[in-house]
Amino acid sequence: MESLLIWGCALLLGAGLFVPYFLRFRAARRQDAARRDETVSLGMNRPVGQYPLIDANACIGCGSCIAACPEGDVLGIVGGKAVITNGARCIGHGRCAEACPVGALKVGLGDITTRDDIPVLSPELETSRPGVFVAGELGGFALVSNAVDQGRRAMESIAARGPFPAGDPRWDAIVVGAGPGGLSAALTARKLGLRCLVLDQQAPGGTILQYPRRKLVLVQPVEIPLFGTLNRKEYSKEDLLDIWLRLHAEHDLKIHTDERLLDVTGSPGDLTVHTTAGVHRARHVVLALGRRGTPRRLGIPGEDAAKVAYRLIDASLYRGSRVLVVGGGDSAAEAAVALATQPGTEVTLSYRKPRLLRIKKRNADRIEALIATGTVKFLGDSQPTAIRDGTVTLDTATGPAILPNDFVFVFAGGDPPFPLLKKIGIVFGGDQAEIQDVLAV
Ligand SMILES: Cc1cc2nc3c(=O)[nH]c(=O)nc-3n(C[C@H](O)[C@H](O)[C@H](O)COP(=O)(O)OP(=O)(O)OC[C@H]3O[C@@H](n4cnc5c(N)ncnc54)[C@H](O)[C@@H]3O)c2cc1C
Repeated sequence: MESLLIWGCALLLGAGLFVPYFLRFRAARRQDAARRDETVSLGMNRPVGQYPLIDANACIGCGSCIAACPEGDVLGIVGGKAVITNGARCIGHGRCAEACPVGALKVGLGDITTRDDIPVLSPELETSRPGVFVAGELGGFALVSNAVDQGRRAMESIAARGPFPAGDPRWDAIVVGAGPGGLSAALTARKLGLRCLVLDQQAPGGTILQYPRRKLVLVQPVEIPLFGTLNRKEYSKEDLLDIWLRLHAEHDLKIHTDERLLDVTGSPGDLTVHTTAGVHRARHVVLALGRRGTPRRLGIPGEDAAKVAYRLIDASLYRGSRVLVVGGGDSAAEAAVALATQPGTEVTLSYRKPRLLRIKKRNADRIEALIATGTVKFLGDSQPTAIRDGTVTLDTATGPAILPNDFVFVFAGGDPPFPLLKKIGIVFGGDQAEIQDVLAV
């Protein structure tokens, strides 16, 4: 009888511990499967650049990769195996591959012949268009360290083709994009004595400028030309930008800001770079455009006003203001939440569809709670039509509406740089007809 009691207690204790764990485990797996199905339907399972390549035969479904991912929800477990649930959020830290105990996962580009978003590059980082190079995330590999490394390598490849005669009116190299890749290329040019011009559609800093204030950037050790090694594991956004801006000033880099690349024409060694400000001639061009593209505009009167922005860096600056956020994705939802939690800020979220469908669950829960309490006013089925001093006009399901307004944030996505590269004549992995010729060279 006594031993029966002991066995009974042990079983109850075991069940008490195991059942909640099992239920939680099953719920997490169901969520992973739902998240994967949702991102597949939205096309967000596709990676931006490099991504986790999972060997399903070797994967034991232990979940170490999920726990190791600093971005949170890139991976999940479905059917006992790791799967990509939200590839668009992978920025290639590679922590998942390090954490996998059975080596079932590596981070890479996969078979590039199936990808129409990866330009085909030579080992020197030259594209199929002779004299035009690609550096940084545009080539498919994200991370600050990869961009710095590739910017340096691209410019060293160009320098190896010199020396170039002095007094030539052409630049030895024009670098387009002043992010980590482009700035590293420009510093290498300065170090190697090449004449180099940098162009960017915004201020120097690249995607780092878009990070939220005080964001911690995880950095792998990398040598920045004319600076030394970035050897801390983490830098704040502001510290990193400070390094780049100091190097820009110390080495007197020639950078044109607010100048957007439109085309590259000409022949090898004599290229013409067409921009929104005119034309420049160069022997070589390094494209370090990143992959995030140019923010899409609404194309409505008043959009050029200073009160219109395409990113939110510091929500606290908008305390007590009347703000319109335009868009229905995660960036719009995150901005609306950050602004609505500032004292005295009135936030309206305008989206052209009736409901917010394309956002992560965490963002959906937060924004829906704020909409439910009236803290954020949601205008589904609406589109801004004009922005004026003190107001913004929208077309809504019930007719035109005029809202009092101090600031407008537009999150309408970006136009990716790939059509521009195709116009320049650069062959991509998915261009089945041309790729064989390029790979054969
Ligand atoms: C939210 C987020 C968090 C991240 N966190 C990390 C992290 O913790 N650690 C890490 O290592 N990496 C991180 N990354 C990735 C990292 O920021 C990028 O890999 C890196 O900035 C790529 O550098 P790049 O020079 O190739 O391109 P970018 O930094 O994207 O710079 C490209 C530049 O080109 C310009 N440009 C684009 N098109 C044109 C045009 N037509 N004409 C003129 N100029 C143009 C742009 O204005 C931009 O300045 C993160 C990215 C994001 C979005």
